[in-house]
Amino acid sequence: MSDAPERESMEYDVVIVGAGPAGLAAAIRLKQLAAEAGREVSVCVLEKGSEVGAHILSGAVIDPIGIDQLIPGWREKGAPIDTPVTKDLFYFLGSAESFRLPNFIMPPLMSNHGNYIISLSNLCKWLGQQAEALGVEVYPGFPAADIVYGESGEVRGVVTGDLGVARDGRHKDSYTPGMNLLGKYTLLAEGARGSLSKIIINRLGLHHNREPQKYGIGLKELWELAPEKHRRGLVMHTMGWPLDNATGGGLFMYHFDRNLCALGFVVHLNYRNPYLSPFDEFQRVKTHPRIRQFLKGGKRIGYGARAITEGGFQSVPKLAFPGGALIGCAAGFVNLPRIKGSHNAILTGMMAAEAAFKALGEGRANDELTEYEEAYKGSSVWRDLKRVRNVKPLWSKLGTIAGVVAGGFDMWCNQLFGFGLFGTLKHGKPDHACLKPASECKPIAYAKPDGVFTFDKPSSVFLSNTNHEEDQPVHLVLKDPSIPIRVNLPKYDEPAQRYCPALVYEVVEEPSGPRFQINAQNCVHCKTCDIKDPEQNIVWVPPEGGGGPNYVNM
Ligand SMILES: Cc1cc2nc3c(=O)[nH]c(=O)nc-3n(C[C@H](O)[C@H](O)[C@H](O)COP(=O)(O)OP(=O)(O)OC[C@H]3O[C@@H](n4cnc5c(N)ncnc54)[C@H](O)[C@@H]3O)c2cc1C
Ligand code: SF4
Repeated sequence: MSDAPERESMEYDVVIVGAGPAGLAAAIRLKQLAAEAGREVSVCVLEKGSEVGAHILSGAVIDPIGIDQLIPGWREKGAPIDTPVTKDLFYFLGSAESFRLPNFIMPPLMSNHGNYIISLSNLCKWLGQQAEALGVEVYPGFPAADIVYGESGEVRGVVTGDLGVARDGRHKDSYTPGMNLLGKYTLLAEGARGSLSKIIINRLGLHHNREPQKYGIGLKELWELAPEKHRRGLVMHTMGWPLDNATGGGLFMYHFDRNLCALGFVVHLNYRNPYLSPFDEFQRVKTHPRIRQFLKGGKRIGYGARAITEGGFQSVPKLAFPGGALIGCAAGFVNLPRIKGSHNAILTGMMAAEAAFKALGEGRANDELTEYEEAYKGSSVWRDLKRVRNVKPLWSKLGTIAGVVAGGFDMWCNQLFGFGLFGTLKHGKPDHACLKPASECKPIAYAKPDGVFTFDKPSSVFLSNTNHEEDQPVHLVLKDPSIPIRVNLPKYDEPAQRYCPALVYEVVEEPSGPRFQINAQNCVHCKTCDIKDPEQNIVWVPPEGGGGPNYVNM
């Protein structure tokens, strides 16, 4: 007899996992099409955050092409998109100096003219309200924990996470088994490194004949600047210091709203030195005079971190599978040099919705939405990614200075002539395979935080409003619990201690020897451990519903 709990089921035409820009755009588009055709289509959206937007962390400078197509009247409807970009600056940093790269040498596609600085978290809240007004059932606090398969292996829906399970697996008084949410089509909109998306990509081999997906970790702080330092509409990017030439990444600073500044730092997760701490590199960059001048007299009011997809064109997996599809960053549609993915998340959500709506109209169910895959190949998203496809591989192979010059040249060629000189370059190894042994690398000495410009991890996590029910199974699952101390510690000085931006992983010295400790309650759901662990031993699974960060204005 199976010990699986009895689960109630609910049926929908379309089940969507994730209330980010991709999932909400798909839901809204389905309802718009149904209203236009005078048909009924039932749609639900599951979101693991305590409310829509609670787990959304982005830059964000958005290209309005996505929202323009989804809700053309967004201005009149009060969308929280009200800071147009007015100035676009790009610097290369040395340890004390900085060199401005003139805008005319940047390929036009890099220009932020016509874009807006927003909080993507707030935009998602607003999109959630638009979706609900159209009749979409949006369920925040409900993670999709597993996939339901039909007899032929087709996806039939998802199972929501059980509630009230104790750390040791015991059922507490509050135990409530998750439900089966069944759909004729299931759209996975979980964002970068989605947990169910990872399962389905591997199970169905959706990544075959593609380059491995590449990632960065994006750390972000929200600052309230002194009014005289705030330049509403200013967008600034840097690269170079404090990262060495072999490590990709850079800073973004976006001045928006009233005295708010989104300050973030991305480190490409193919970095090699296991002693590197992305969090501490971020703290370090803020001490540069070019950055520090803006922060003087200001106050840090928010913190968070999230992985960002960087593989682009050559890493996009097969999108459709029997019973559903991957949309948004679950598939990875970020244009890396532009650091923009939310417009493509919206557009791919809309394309999948249109394909699902057509299929439903033809009486189809749980088959492959090949129309979506075809629509993607003829779309602006495909063109957006194709013309920048070599920037990331060139950066990885040649280092920051030569790589960015070569990448810029390739983007100019693509923009002017419609083709580049390099064909389509490969990414090479997945990020987890890029670390060198610690014995071949130099430890990095990071300065103590000053509590004014630079901070430690505990006070940062505090600002992310992260909260998890303490008595629940650890949601960072080790396939083999011995690996951190037996393999990772001697070989890489256990890099999880440093790549995790929330102090979840610690190596604690005890009389019996070192012990690997997981402080799961701190987790901000960035997914970096699932990506970067060199042995691929850490599996991130959704914790009990509503757990995780509660981002405000991120
Ligand atoms: C630091 C950083 C800076 C960025 N800057 C920019 C920028 O300036 N401009 C830009 O356009 N793009 C930017 N991006 C990229 C942009 O944020 C993404 O492309 C975009 O958010 C992708 O949207 P999505 O809907 O696919 O996924 P997400 O926005 O990640 O949303 C996914 C949602 O699904 C939920 N979810 C995940 N798994 C489950 C589950 N199993 N069950 C239930 N819910 C689940 C999550 O909680 C989340 O709410 C940036 C990204 C980062 C990390
Ligand atoms: S435990 Fe993993 S997912 Fe959670 S914050 Fe740390 S690196 Fe990110």
